[in-house]
Amino acid sequence: MFERQINIKNPAELKIMREAGRINAAVLAKVKELLQPGVTTADLNAAAEEVLKSHGCVSPFKGYGHPPFPASITVSINDEMVHGIPRPKRKLKNGDIVSIDCGTVFKGFVADSAFSAGVGDISFEAANLLKVTEEALYAGIAQMRKGRRTGDVSAAIQNYVESRGLHVTREYTGHGVGRSMHEGPQVPNIGTAGSGMLLRAGMTIALEPMVLIGTHETRVLPDQWTVVSADGTLTAHFEHTVAVTEGDPLLLTVL
Ligand code: MG
Ligand code: MG
Repeated sequence: MFERQINIKNPAELKIMREAGRINAAVLAKVKELLQPGVTTADLNAAAEEVLKSHGCVSPFKGYGHPPFPASITVSINDEMVHGIPRPKRKLKNGDIVSIDCGTVFKGFVADSAFSAGVGDISFEAANLLKVTEEALYAGIAQMRKGRRTGDVSAAIQNYVESRGLHVTREYTGHGVGRSMHEGPQVPNIGTAGSGMLLRAGMTIALEPMVLIGTHETRVLPDQWTVVSADGTLTAHFEHTVAVTEGDPLLLTVL
C-alpha cells in the first residue's frame, strides 16, 4: 500500500494544531446551529467561510483535487456519504441526515473534522446510525495510545460498527494530518488488531468512520466528488483529528 510521509509533531507544533482544531470546531458548531429545513447547502458553506475568515483561516478543501473542490466544507445528505458539494438550490428537508466535513489551515497546519446530524424529526433507524457512527469514532480514539498499532484502531472501529449490524466503508480511510491534509499513516476503518504501524507520541491522525445501513459498497456520482451508498440507504460520518501522546489521546478538533 502506498504510504505517505509520517511527521511526528513537537509540542509547539501540537499547540498550533490544537488552535487549528479549535477554530475548526467553531466552524462546525456554527454550521450545526443552522441545520434546519429550508436552509441551502450553499448557505451552510457561506456561514462556514465567514467563521474561517474571522480567524484569518481558509479551508484546505477549496481547490483540492481534480476537478478542484469548489467549496470550504462538504455537505452530504442521506445516502451521500462524503464529499457532497454545497449548492445554492439544494435545501435541507425535515427528516434528512446531513454530514458536514471541514478543514482549517492555521499557521501552516491543518485540522480536519466532521459530524453528522438530523434535520428536524428523524427516524429511529437514522438516529441509531448517527449514534453508532459517533460511538465507533470514540472506540477508535480509545486505541490511539503510544505502543498500540494502527490495526488496533481499525479493528476497534470495524468491530464496533459490525457488532451493531451496520456496515463500514472499505475504500475511505483515516489519515495522518499536519502541514498537509493527508499524511501517513493511513488508518483504514477495517483491520486486524495487533497489525499495522506502531503508534508514537506526536503522531496526529484524523480518524473518520463512515457507516452505511445496507452495504459497505459505494459509488461516486457524475460530479466526480459525491460518494453515495451503492444501495441508496442512509450513511453517516464522524471525524476528529487526534494526537497520540505519552498518556491519553488528545482531541485536537474540539472547542
Ligand atoms: Mg474530513
Ligand atoms: Mg479526513
